[in-house]
Amino acid sequence: MELVHSSQDAITLENKYGAHNYHPLPVVLAKGDGVYVWDVEGKKYFDFLSAYSAVNQGHCHPRIVNALKEQAETLTLTSRAFYNDVLGVYEKYMSEYFGFDKILPMNTGAEAVETAIKICRKWAYEKKGVQETKAKIIVCENNFHGRTTTIISFSNDQDARKNFGPFTEGFIKIPYNDINALEEALKEDNVAGFLVEPIQGEAGVFVPDDGYLAKADKLCKEKNVLFIADEVQTGIARTGELLACDYENIRPDLLILGKAVSGGVYPVSAVLADNSIMEVIKPGQHGSTFGGNPLAAKVAMAALDVVKDEGLAENSRRLGVIFRERMNALIDATDLITQVRGKGLLNAIVINDSPESSTAWNICVALKENGLLAKPTHGNIIRFAPPLVMTEEQLHECCDIIDSTITQFNAV
Ligand SMILES: *Cc1c(COP(=O)(O)O)cnc(C)c1O
Repeated sequence: MELVHSSQDAITLENKYGAHNYHPLPVVLAKGDGVYVWDVEGKKYFDFLSAYSAVNQGHCHPRIVNALKEQAETLTLTSRAFYNDVLGVYEKYMSEYFGFDKILPMNTGAEAVETAIKICRKWAYEKKGVQETKAKIIVCENNFHGRTTTIISFSNDQDARKNFGPFTEGFIKIPYNDINALEEALKEDNVAGFLVEPIQGEAGVFVPDDGYLAKADKLCKEKNVLFIADEVQTGIARTGELLACDYENIRPDLLILGKAVSGGVYPVSAVLADNSIMEVIKPGQHGSTFGGNPLAAKVAMAALDVVKDEGLAENSRRLGVIFRERMNALIDATDLITQVRGKGLLNAIVINDSPESSTAWNICVALKENGLLAKPTHGNIIRFAPPLVMTEEQLHECCDIIDSTITQFNAV
């Protein structure tokens, strides 16, 4: 195997042999441990992205890695053509952990969203009595639910859609955080579900008004419409509760999980629901070769044990308050940032420049030079989402880096 000797080597290889479907910050990571990552040259950074909240438990958590190692030496994949001795244990674990009758295991977030859409439609035809092919699912503007053809069909990100059509029908798009718009949309015929992110992560960490989700859930229940929560990014303690829905004491009809279910060690995603909904899926109607494999199952159980045993939700909630306090103090001291918003350790700051400007990108490059990795989202917004195993002392060190970088930053 060819070895990479410098960051530049690695970047050159990716540019030459990889499709250019991402635009990474110019840093090449070679190692991770907890809240830290190191580049090829050995420079150490705080990770403030956590692989888009997949690494909530911190990099290379020993308990999760050991679960991976042990199971990798025992049995990795059987396919669902046969039973395996871990899947049932995992399904019980997940059902109890999240409080649903059943789980349907998948691998990536987008697959889990697709699964939820399929279950919702099938439920509409078989349980609600909607005429076949007529079911509609309400979604929100500026959503992010993944990259498959159906999912981009209801995105309004032009980069994600342009020249990928024709698109899948059956979606009604309404503004996010607008309960009246939902009420109106629910008056349409054949509505089967409402698919929503409890906080819009990719859009720039948009936190809806208090009570929005609870009201939306209530309206859906009144209309016999499934409330579908995409907690792929907000779930698993990221926002200071196990699920962001917990803040409003609501229990979605379909819960979509991914990312940190495995602590970033292996792709694991899932849809959870009660029997009355999940029973519409019968043998042969949906599946995935890797979904529910014993390696994924063991990794996920270890990763979710870590969330409980290390009190990550409580830590996220507590540190999130400190983080926003520190950022608000910075906002008072500089014109360069105008707002901080978020819950727990899912936060973003808004840069005082146009979305087309490169200011947020340049600030992220400067943060990288100063030992902290974050990424702009949607132009002039920077998301800050460190691993939830961070200590208060480390968080203050990070806020010092952000503070001094922004204070010394001269817009170019
Ligand atoms: C990341 C994400 C997805 C897609 O997950 P993949 O594993 O990248 O397919 C879906 N929904 C939300 C809210 C996400 O943040």
